[in-house]
Amino acid sequence: MDDFSDLYIYLDGELVRWDDAKLHVFSPAVKYGAAVFEGIRGYWNESDEKMYLFRLEDHMRRMELSQRIMRFGRVVPAEEMMEATIALMRKNGFRSSVHIRPTVYVGGTGESYATDPIGSFITAIPRGTPKKVETGVRAQVSSWQRISDNVMPARAKANANYNNSRYAGLQATRDGYEAAILLNSRGKVSEGQGMCLFIIRNGVAVTPSVTSDILESITRDTVIELLKAQGIPVQEREMDRSEFFDASEAFFCGTGAEITPLIDVDGDPIGSGSPGETTRALQSDYFDLAFGRKSHRPEWRTEV
Ligand code: PMP
Repeated sequence: MDDFSDLYIYLDGELVRWDDAKLHVFSPAVKYGAAVFEGIRGYWNESDEKMYLFRLEDHMRRMELSQRIMRFGRVVPAEEMMEATIALMRKNGFRSSVHIRPTVYVGGTGESYATDPIGSFITAIPRGTPKKVETGVRAQVSSWQRISDNVMPARAKANANYNNSRYAGLQATRDGYEAAILLNSRGKVSEGQGMCLFIIRNGVAVTPSVTSDILESITRDTVIELLKAQGIPVQEREMDRSEFFDASEAFFCGTGAEITPLIDVDGDPIGSGSPGETTRALQSDYFDLAFGRKSHRPEWRTEV
């Protein structure tokens, strides 16, 4: 287990030591998972000695939506969470890339319908790019179904939703795969566990639509823009699992997954069975953007 005891955590307006950030065990957040969160990356640009938080405002705006869907008694504004994140980053003084996790939660000691008091906390820990971004992953189409909008809306990034992808991820690991792909209640491809996905089919990039029970991923949005800039048409639509057989390339995307090549589904290789040309070009564009190595989209990088 990593030791983060030197770090600070933002908790309800204060910067407190890692070991002192406490929630009540009887809070709805703990008892029912009544909380919403985000995952944000901070990219440390070694040559400029600068830290860039990628699409900070977009994440905090999405967390406002998650709070509204969860009918929190008070919606913590994006501005408040952004300011707190920057203060936390300065206090911790990181000089390597980080993963930031802000959460807004129902505190107090109320019952399941309690909508207040609302609290918030933010953690930030060092985290670089995982090896799978280089190697790619083999995935299993899960026998667990994606939660649907009328059950637990995937559009809200609610903590309790993550038991759905956890079942799928645990099953995939047990069965010897590195990732899971979930189908939705209509039997269409939805997303991976904690990441969206794309295939390249006949030169067109296809990704499940925002009504396919996905989280409306910020990386997916970035990828759509980067693919179009490369001249690759993008279709957001319902997607069948059998389309994997006709894909020349595929990849997962997400803040954590970044651009992770998907090289095999259920034992059948995608294309050549190794990360494809379009995927590699996209990775290079994505990291140029996130690390601020190219000047376009400056509004997507918050320097701290
Ligand atoms: N789907 C789910 C279920 C996720 O948890 C995430 C990670 N936040 C994603 C997709 C990717 O979203 P984003 O690109 O905004 O990180």
